[in-house]
Amino acid sequence: MTSQLKRAGLISLLALAFLSGCNPAASFWAIVMPAATSLPTPTRFEITDTPTPTEQTTNTPTFTPTPTFTPEPTETPTLTPEPTIAYVQTGPGTVNIPVLLYHHVVASNPSHSRYSVDVEQFTAEMSYLKEQGYQTINVSDMTEAVLSGKELPSRPVVITFDDGDVDIFQNAFPVLSALGYTATMYLITSAVDASGYLTRDMVLELAHSGWEIGSHSITHTDLLKSKNDLGEICDSRTRLQQEFNLPINSFAYPYGVANYHTMQTAHDCGYTSGAGLGMWITQSPDRIYYFYRREVEGHFSLDNFTALLVNPP
Ligand SMILES: [Zn+2]
Repeated sequence: MTSQLKRAGLISLLALAFLSGCNPAASFWAIVMPAATSLPTPTRFEITDTPTPTEQTTNTPTFTPTPTFTPEPTETPTLTPEPTIAYVQTGPGTVNIPVLLYHHVVASNPSHSRYSVDVEQFTAEMSYLKEQGYQTINVSDMTEAVLSGKELPSRPVVITFDDGDVDIFQNAFPVLSALGYTATMYLITSAVDASGYLTRDMVLELAHSGWEIGSHSITHTDLLKSKNDLGEICDSRTRLQQEFNLPINSFAYPYGVANYHTMQTAHDCGYTSGAGLGMWITQSPDRIYYFYRREVEGHFSLDNFTALLVNPP
């Protein structure tokens, strides 16, 4: 495991990637990413904190009432059937699953901010996914498929949001819910309930609607410069678990900045994956602590967006 993380760390340090900021003032960095074809041989990580499923007791019915009256049906409702989602065994090992990253979804984006898409653009992108037969899965579904193998929808896609901005609840959540989609939200723990960010109740509503909650550190600091990187990574997980009583399995590195040490720390703190940045949709066990995410920028054309769903030529 250690050698795998070292290799992944060296790859991250050597390779070219977008270091995306999570605010408009963030600087635009570049790191190197390897070609998908040069990914090292997949190796499984040891997952030590898999929760034990709770056994469900099924009660045997002891009494069946006999109906005494059968009403005549008066009208046959016309139902629009949901298309059946085909599930296929996916993984373990390297899989192609696009992971998309958004920050803000806003009513309008007149300043053409890179980090904000407007509702019209977001709705068009999600509708395109639906029309093309994509079904959302959460980050932990992807992680489980890569590490252990899992039955997933035949065209899976992961939608992630960083920072926990309130506009995601207001503008993105309704669009996703209408399509039967969920997403993974990475929270800055110190920002919950702060102005402009999700409230605690909003986070719980997302979680109860099937969204996964992950950590995006306590203060959104550059972990390579922070003197409290251990706290930012580990304590943020503990806080979220205690605050929301939810499994917190994934960590998103602020600004996409990570090295061997931060990835090792994420592993040691009990996360099963780490969200990074990159140009690929190929996800593999040796990169699960810096899996590729592709950022959707404000005012992308639909062609720009659809190009994110496949590896670059
Ligand atoms: Zn961020």
